Amino acid sequence: MGMQAERRWSAWVNGSEYAGTGGRLFDVEEPAVGRTLAQVVKLNEEDVGYAVGVASGAFEDGRWANVSATARGKALLKLAQRIRDSARNLAELETRQVGKPISDAYDEVMTAADCFEFYAGAANKVHGHTIPVSAPGLDYTLRVPVGVVALIVPWNFPFLITAWKVAPALAMGNSVIVKPASLTPITALILGPLAQAAGVPDGVFNVITGPGREVGEALVKDPRVDKIAFTGETSTGSRILQLAAADIKRVSLELGGKSPTIVFADVDVDRVAQLTVQSAYANGGQDCCARSRVLVHESIAEEYQESLVEHARRLKIGDPLDPDVQMGPLVSAAHRQRIQAFIRDGVAEGAQLVLDPQTIDLPEAGHYLGPAVFVKPPDDARIVREEIFGPVTTVQTFRTEDEAIRLANATDYGLSGSVFSRDLGQALRVAHRVRSGTMSVNSIKSVHLESPFGGFKKSGLGRELGVEALDLYTEVKNVFVGLD
Ligand code: NAD
Repeated sequence: MGMQAERRWSAWVNGSEYAGTGGRLFDVEEPAVGRTLAQVVKLNEEDVGYAVGVASGAFEDGRWANVSATARGKALLKLAQRIRDSARNLAELETRQVGKPISDAYDEVMTAADCFEFYAGAANKVHGHTIPVSAPGLDYTLRVPVGVVALIVPWNFPFLITAWKVAPALAMGNSVIVKPASLTPITALILGPLAQAAGVPDGVFNVITGPGREVGEALVKDPRVDKIAFTGETSTGSRILQLAAADIKRVSLELGGKSPTIVFADVDVDRVAQLTVQSAYANGGQDCCARSRVLVHESIAEEYQESLVEHARRLKIGDPLDPDVQMGPLVSAAHRQRIQAFIRDGVAEGAQLVLDPQTIDLPEAGHYLGPAVFVKPPDDARIVREEIFGPVTTVQTFRTEDEAIRLANATDYGLSGSVFSRDLGQALRVAHRVRSGTMSVNSIKSVHLESPFGGFKKSGLGRELGVEALDLYTEVKNVFVGLD
């Protein structure tokens, strides 16, 4: 067990640990055992103002924004290496604070390192244009950093989503303030000393800790913050967009999902059922891209459902520090209760619970919940419309391609989805007509560092990852040089 987990954690501001002015702490729990893992300082609004002042000062004096893009890229490459060197420790802490399987946590930490490398390489490849304007002169554009950016992160992929935001923001020369979720603040805090050791100047990378409604809102409201990149619930994103309106802050949002898997009749049914289990129950279903809404052709529905239940029953659930475990506990007792309420609602609304999580053997301590499968839910049931964010799938049937698309689009969300068909024309027609930011054909993979990721409709605003993310962290400046 990592020694570091048993200690008190401070925020990270101006290149050192920062305990704040209020003397308050909050507990971080280990969901697999239901006990306190660590205590973390709970900052207040005054402390947020201090951190924003530090980030703002660091931006104004150009200690990072004005070094060469190549030098920034080199520092981020070193940071990637430091993350790899600390990967075991980071993965263990991630597992202990989230409850996710250690093999997944390790992959996510390594992918976070890849993400820093990707944007390290991109740092000196972002350039403007020269433009043939009508006036006699030279007209050109520059891509300049936005300024002080607030990066607000959820609890389901704490370290990885921090990297998705921090890497492009730093590559483009911004000063950043990360606000991790209060359930899972620890791994983002470790990034502070790692960034410092890699040569990121003090004050450029900061992490503040405390409740979203107090610390998060103070950050969002501070007029010195130029941009907010938020990942979390749609309702929180909506609130942030309203608060940001006062100062016309730049905002990008990665929000909830209710993603479909569409299964046509000509597929290898057992293989698709197996992939459905991976896509719907990985991370305990606490995944914005979870394919929790299956739409299956009626001619294979029965065979598919049987196979789905069989694969779901075979999931190895237990201690997330065991490298063979596929599903750990949910993140908290409150979150488990919320999902159990959804399951009760589904039954009350007339859906058939063909896999009841109460029939699965689970460890006694910790916030475990087995996988649930519902079939034949009414089209307007809550379990079909709302994001559950837990190990629950619903299976609906369709007869025609048009009906599959109509059902897939019958949601306020539009993040991702999968379509399985051997008829490539059909698969691509469906992929193009489902209104979501990403679609996978004969695959469940929806996130690639190199490709843009984000949502249509209430799933978000803007695109992270890929070269598109660089647009989120730069302003376009036009310069005209008169030559007459
Ligand atoms: P959340 O909205 O409760 O919290 C997210 C972050 O916002 C936390 O750091 C929280 O402290 C902070 N926060 C809360 N209220 C705030 C406020 N009023 N002002 C400023 N900050 C505030 O979300 P969560 O429960 O941590 O995460 C789960 C949600 O995130 C799900 O809806 C999931 O779909 C979504 N998510 C989306 C993506 C994506 O890329 N689209 C990825 C992961 C998770």
